[in-house]
Amino acid sequence: MVKVKSVKKRHVKVGDMVVVISGRDRSKRGRVIALGVNEGKAIVSGLNKVRKHLKARKAGDESGVLEVEAPICTDKLQLICPHCDSATRVGHRMNDKNLKVRFCKKCKKDITSK
Ligand SMILES: [Zn+2]
Repeated sequence: MVKVKSVKKRHVKVGDMVVVISGRDRSKRGRVIALGVNEGKAIVSGLNKVRKHLKARKAGDESGVLEVEAPICTDKLQLICPHCDSATRVGHRMNDKNLKVRFCKKCKKDITSK
């Protein structure tokens, strides 16, 4: 038996503005700064912050509490359309150059990632 890793289809990309739809950070907005490979998780700036307690282990290290962004499941994220500035679902279609683009289901405009 060959184990096949499922690749999760994602509606968000690095650089997108997203809004959280459930959990502790519900309705907060942030920008995607990294995506996990095959995990369906993303790191969003300013969201899902966790405290990391650091202990100085060698000389020169600093101990203390650090706030870092933890990966958040992309299922809990919704894209914010740059055209109509609302949380929206994302569709896929071909544009005039025959490239696959995402589009906003609300205003039907293409969402191009930078
Ligand atoms: Zn829109």
